[in-house]
This record gives sequence, structure tokens and C-alpha cells, in this order.
Amino acid sequence: MTRELLVAGGGIAGLAAALGARRAGWEARLFEQAPAFSEVGAGLQLGPNTTRILAGWGVLDDPLLRAFAPPRLRVRDATDGRELGHLALGAAMEARYGAPYLALHRADLHAALLRAVTDAGVRLHAGLRVDEAQVDGEAVLARTSAGTRVEADALAVADGVWSGLRQQLLGDGPAPPTGHVALRALLSMDDLPVALRSDDVQAWLGPRMHLVCYPVRAGQALNVVAIAEGAAAASEWDQAAPQDALQAVARDLCGELRALLEAVPAWRMWPVHDRAPVRGPHEMAHGRAALLGDAAHPMRPYLAQGAGMALEDAFELHRVLSACAGRLVDVPTALKRYALNRWERCARVQRRSRRNGTIFHATGLLRAGRDMAMRTGGESLLDVPWLYRGI
Ligand SMILES: Cc1cc2nc3c(=O)[nH]c(=O)nc-3n(C[C@H](O)[C@H](O)[C@H](O)COP(=O)(O)OP(=O)(O)OC[C@H]3O[C@@H](n4cnc5c(N)ncnc54)[C@H](O)[C@@H]3O)c2cc1C
Repeated sequence: MTRELLVAGGGIAGLAAALGARRAGWEARLFEQAPAFSEVGAGLQLGPNTTRILAGWGVLDDPLLRAFAPPRLRVRDATDGRELGHLALGAAMEARYGAPYLALHRADLHAALLRAVTDAGVRLHAGLRVDEAQVDGEAVLARTSAGTRVEADALAVADGVWSGLRQQLLGDGPAPPTGHVALRALLSMDDLPVALRSDDVQAWLGPRMHLVCYPVRAGQALNVVAIAEGAAAASEWDQAAPQDALQAVARDLCGELRALLEAVPAWRMWPVHDRAPVRGPHEMAHGRAALLGDAAHPMRPYLAQGAGMALEDAFELHRVLSACAGRLVDVPTALKRYALNRWERCARVQRRSRRNGTIFHATGLLRAGRDMAMRTGGESLLDVPWLYRGI
């Protein structure tokens, strides 16, 4: 009999896990608590480590993605507009790593993955939460919010940063707030003054804040995300914020950046939560359950790799599930292998994301040192070969 994976959560991690399972010859059933499969959020950058996986799964060619390949990453000083450093993306990145560096909208990636899982025959259940699961016996025994019992061979815990299932398995409390707030906006390129349109990924670094913008939707929209420390504490996920939300916390910005902020009609605001870097394989697998994505390793978005790590998790899960599709390897052993192969890399990305935040937001001597290092180290400081080479 074919083995079956039960997936809790229909975000990027859950959809990719279900797709990986089907490609490994498993059946897959996915439960999403929201009444419909849809993704909020805004832009995403995907490095070659991630786009390589999507290409292998045939998702990268889906026109729903409307991905954009920015030619350069430019790092600039938010107060005077100076360029601090740049990294060639586009063809250079593809030549170096064999896969593109792309910018796209999260909803578009979600839609393409949803189409792929539907075509692959994943059974989808919207409007149902996985409330609890026993994962230590001969099978996974789960209960949904409708009170139904579901049995499967393995469970993918992909229920995001607020993961209730992680609490049942690890009991290590909620992911704490970082004190940083993300403000996000999506602008139509046509509505922007020509001087503010750019094909590049631009990262503006200022004291205790930074802002990143890049084109998405095949270049028709500009995604803007600003991160500020200690901004009026946002407690709710994805709340509306006033047009001047950033000006209130970020002073002395250069004219070009101020003009960009003035072009933003309204922001959505997210408090940023993370966890300490993964401490060991026990945080990524437990019995017949594997943890993926933000449920396993929520991170600050300063290396732009949260969704990337979710996709890598799913790819690794696919590998270990392939090994036990024929029942030669038992499921808990396969998931242990998954966790062993993933935890150190995820922890490294979490650490690097935190470090980037400190460097991006630097003041005083640290800032002067950063700027000098950028001038002398150039591209080598912005490229991350150990990450982009992938798994
Ligand atoms: C400002 C910002 C910028 C970012 N930029 C980037 C970037 O450039 N590149 C990048 O790679 N990443 C980026 N990220 C990170 C990325 O968005 C996340 O890491 C990724 O979306 C996490 O996906 P997920 O599927 O693990 O979690 P989620 O997207 O949170 O999905 C979890 C899903 O599970 C559902 N759910 C919850 N509980 C249950 C349950 N019990 N049963 C069933 N369903 C349940 C939820 O409704 C939700 O749909 C950014 C994040 C932020 C905040």
C-alpha cells in the first residue's frame, strides 16, 4: 500500500512538502485552516538555491509566477543616497550558480505551487485545522477542527511561525517578538515617477532601519519593505499602517528615499518574530513528524531566505520520503535523517539573518567599519556562495 503524508498548513512550506511527497511516490493530504488557499504578504526574493528546486519541479516555468530577474543588488546609504556596494545578479548569478536570482510576489509563488500540487493529485482540505497529532506510534493519528480523525504514515508540520503543533511536540513557547517591525507596500510601476523606477534590488541602510525594494509581477509592480527598530509596537499580524508610519521612526533620509516613501499610499505592518537558531535535529523531527518552514526555524527576513529554507526543507523531505517509499527504511528513521541533514544549515541561515540586521542597522563606529568594508570588499561581501550553491 502507498504511504501517505499528512500536511498541516497550506503556506509555501506545506504546499512544497505535499508536492515533494507526491514526487516521492507518496500520497499526500493537506489541511489548511483558512477557508481558501490564498497567500497574503508581498514580495519575495528567491536565491539560486531555491529557484533550482522550483526548476527541478517544473514550477519555475509556470507563467503564474510572473517572476522578475533583477540585474543588480545595490546597497545604498539611506541618509545620503551614496552607493555602498553592489552585486551583479541576472546573468552573472545564473552563470555562477546555474539557476537564477528572482523577485516575485508571494501570492504568485503560492498560486504556482497550488497548481502544481493540484495537478500532482494532492488531496486538499481548506477550512480545516489540524488540532492535535500523536506521532510516536505505528501511525500518525491526527484530529481536525471538525473533530474527524485522520491517520497517515507521516506528518509535515508546516503551520507557520505561530505553530500550535510545534507547541505540542516541543513545548518551547511562542516565537518571541524581535522589537522590529516590517512595513510593506506594493506600488504600480506606472504610478511611480520615472526617477524612482529601477530594475535593481535596492537595499537602503540607515541607522536602526533599512528598506529594500525590487520589481515583482514581471516588472509591473515595485515591492517595498522597510524594517524599523522600536517602531510603534505592532502587536497584530498584517495590520494597516498610516502613510507616514516610517517617517515617524526614520529621520534624516535622503531626498530620493523620501520621495519613494511619499509615493506609498499605505503600508501593511508586520511585527517580526524569530527564534534562536535551531539547536539540534530534535527541533526538526519528532517520531513520525517533520517540522518545516517557519514552524521549524522562523527567522528575521534580512537574508531573504525564509521561504527559501521552507523550499529546501521540502526538497530534503522529498529525498528521505523517496528512500522509504518502498518500505525498506522506516518512517521515523527517514525523518531523523531529514532533521540531521537540515538543522545546521537552517541554524546558519538564522544566525546570518540576525547578523545582517545588526550590520544593516549599524550606527557609529560599526557603521563606519561596514561602509569601509563594503568599499574594499565589494561583491565578495554581498555574495553568499555557501548558501546559493544549495543543497
Ligand atoms: C517582511 C518579510 C519579508 C520576507 N522576505 C522574504 C524573501 O525575500 N525571501 C524569502 O525566501 N522569504 C522571505 N520572508 C519569509 C517568508 O515569507 C516565510 O518564511 C515563509 O512564507 C514561511 O512559509 P510557511 O509556509 O512556513 O508559513 P506560513 O506562510 O505562515 O504558512 C502557514 C500556514 O499554515 C496554516 N495553519 C496554521 N496552523 C494550522 C493548523 N493547525 N492546521 C492547518 N493549517 C494551519 C496558516 O493558515 C498558514 O496558511 C519574508 C518574511 C517577512 C515577514
